[in-house]
Amino acid sequence: MSWPPLRDELKGLAPYGAPQLDVPVQLNVNENPYGPSADCVADIAASVAEVAGSLNRYPDRELTELRTALAGYLSQDTPHGISPDQVWAANGSNEVMLQLLQAYAGPGRTALSFAPTYSMYPEYARDTNTGWVVGHREEDFSLDLHHARALIEETRPAVVLLPSPNNPTGTALPHEAISLLCDAVAGAGQGGLLVVDEAYGEFRRAGVPSALELLPAHRNLVVTRTMSKAFALAGARLGYLAADPAICDGIRVVRLPYHLSAVTQAVALAALRHEKELLGKVDELRAERDATVDWLREQGHRVGDSDANFVLFGVFGDRHAVWQGLLDRGVLVREVGPEGWLRVSIGTPEEMASFRLGLTQVMEEQA
Ligand code: PMP
Repeated sequence: MSWPPLRDELKGLAPYGAPQLDVPVQLNVNENPYGPSADCVADIAASVAEVAGSLNRYPDRELTELRTALAGYLSQDTPHGISPDQVWAANGSNEVMLQLLQAYAGPGRTALSFAPTYSMYPEYARDTNTGWVVGHREEDFSLDLHHARALIEETRPAVVLLPSPNNPTGTALPHEAISLLCDAVAGAGQGGLLVVDEAYGEFRRAGVPSALELLPAHRNLVVTRTMSKAFALAGARLGYLAADPAICDGIRVVRLPYHLSAVTQAVALAALRHEKELLGKVDELRAERDATVDWLREQGHRVGDSDANFVLFGVFGDRHAVWQGLLDRGVLVREVGPEGWLRVSIGTPEEMASFRLGLTQVMEEQA
């Protein structure tokens, strides 16, 4: 037997993650390019200093204050409001979704999504010994609802993972699709959950509603969010969800004791007090996104409609050469999605100017 004695299905696999390269223009992991103000930094530092004196004690296991603050924040996106017992939080929405599969999927059960989509989903399934089924999307990356419903009826999934907006394509899901799929999952008879992953929800275009509005209508709907993207707090690692309180109770059974440190809770609470500032650049980033989509189309590229803070564009005969050409000019984008496509995160106007210049030069060089 080879050593160390890794599980067979993990042998030879590389850890997930985009290259972390020290280049001037980093547009590869969909971060918010704007850091916090001096005021916000001071509040975060003071909050951490306050908890530092009691770090000999374990933190609040139930995250009561944080769940209350997150419920208040989410309530702005739904006329029905969100209560603290509908909220759960963990170290990034990746951990939230892993916990969901630990509690609601596992051996003998299946998780389902539709590609191209977020590449971590099959890893959650693998790590929890959950069966994994992946359907397809249309040419324009929207969901084919007939196909989706048929696959749900056939596989009777325990969990369906659907990002809206989708990563890496930027595609948002209409309410009708979410409702129809919640009903299909419920109708499949396994008591399955439909998870709408709104990691990029705050970047959606005007008039696109949040799935949070649908919670009262669908007991099996879970909406996940993160502070890593619009909230400009990727380094703090804070993700969360809203769902029926009974769903949160199930997760509480599998979560590790004290999984969310007192420091993380304090930082997230301080950041939530600065919500207006931290989200203050969202409108600018959306405008920059729309301008990037227009510019790429003017250059003759194919571009997915985007409700997120990134844009998928292509189609290149040799996408790696384009990626490398950009990197040689100090611009890091992501080689992800269907063959021939690249994804660029939306940065500051200066960063996007470097991206446009770099891509123009690469295309000229390759012409
Ligand atoms: N969902 C989607 C669709 C994502 O793209 C990401 C991050 N790239 C996540 C969830 C996880 O983010 P985090 O763990 O930082 O909350």
